Amino acid sequence: MDADALYADVIDKYSRHLNPHLAKLMAFAGFGVEMEGDGCYLIDHEGRKFLDCLGGYGTFSLGHRHPKVVEAVKNQLDHLALSGKAFFSKNSADLAEKLAEITPAGLDYSFFCNSGTEAVEASLKFAKGVTGRTKIVSTTESFHGKTLGSLSVMGREKYRKGFEPLLPGVVFVPFGDSQAAAEAIDGTTACMIVEPVQGEGGIIVPPAGYLNDLRTACDKHGALLIFDEVQSGLGRTGKMWGCDHDGAIPDLLTSAKALGGGVMPLGAVCGTEAIWDAIYSKNPLSHTSTFGGNPLACAAGLATLQVLQEEGLVQRSHDMGVLLLEGMHSIGHKHRNWIKEVRGKGLMVGLEFAEDEVGELVVAQLLKYGVCVAYALNNPRVLRFEPPLIITAEQIEFALEAVDGAIVETGELLSTLV
Ligand SMILES: *Cc1c(COP(=O)(O)O)cnc(C)c1O
Repeated sequence: MDADALYADVIDKYSRHLNPHLAKLMAFAGFGVEMEGDGCYLIDHEGRKFLDCLGGYGTFSLGHRHPKVVEAVKNQLDHLALSGKAFFSKNSADLAEKLAEITPAGLDYSFFCNSGTEAVEASLKFAKGVTGRTKIVSTTESFHGKTLGSLSVMGREKYRKGFEPLLPGVVFVPFGDSQAAAEAIDGTTACMIVEPVQGEGGIIVPPAGYLNDLRTACDKHGALLIFDEVQSGLGRTGKMWGCDHDGAIPDLLTSAKALGGGVMPLGAVCGTEAIWDAIYSKNPLSHTSTFGGNPLACAAGLATLQVLQEEGLVQRSHDMGVLLLEGMHSIGHKHRNWIKEVRGKGLMVGLEFAEDEVGELVVAQLLKYGVCVAYALNNPRVLRFEPPLIITAEQIEFALEAVDGAIVETGELLSTLV
């Protein structure tokens, strides 16, 4: 099948069997069919190569198909793929130990699942189970996944509307506002859930000390604190965890996206002994998952943590992040009539345009330059850059030149329209 026929066939099947409305949006933006991933690059059906600055919303921290992760998974595949569920699993045990080492102090236990939203679901369930309370405090513009429990704490009404009633007792406070959170958290609160750096909300970095303020407010009322690090974790922000910038410690920490090394789906929620005791002492099967913690995914997770450490990728994220952010700041200054703000931490960088449509057009223009990005789900004005942590200074330079060029062209395009 030639490239055009393959493209037409895939779009046709999306339209008839997957999601015709999304297919239209993606085709309009100019996205092709992904055929191969290699390091920092994605290759489409026409053999075109794109620098992947979207990185699967933070999934591809090690790039695509990191050889060490692929090798670990292939090797595991030759022995045991999924768990029989009755026996002990060595990979689960090893990975849980490693996570206890790299997560903040006291988060010694892990529950494994297959996605970010499942990790959030487990964290909310644990918080309710431990405290016996129902009120949950979340933040506006937050993103925690789209299954019913996670959706209940999603800070964007657009996604919740039409699916209510959801979990009762959820209260939203502005992200980054310590006082609003302190006022909302009370003796009936099971937990507060928050992203240390908001991803889908538009790469929003809270004021320094915010996470510690939340810790204090939760402690005052015996509420649990959940940090959703599904996107911000594992080096993305230039430290191992987003919460490490503040030195704040949650009761529960969720991880997923990058945890499987961009090779396997893998999620986890890590928490304290007290929580695991409360949840599992009376019923050891209180919360389980058939596929969660399977040997293949955990092999990928173990290799991922090893590569992060061996290749110094957390520090690299910080260093490359400085380059990217500096470059974006000068682009922001040059195009200050289009760009409202540039912000970020490590390799989690957002570029906020003054208007919705500009961001969408720049995404399409960037594809022509061979750079793949997307706008944030809860804020289409914000282009987010989350390239692999293995990205080089030259590749960042390439991306920055492309962004500059794409904005110039979008400006020319828009001026011919008015
Ligand atoms: C992506 C994301 C989720 C949901 O993860 P899925 O694997 O898509 O279910 C949850 N929380 C945050 C912060 C995320 O970025």
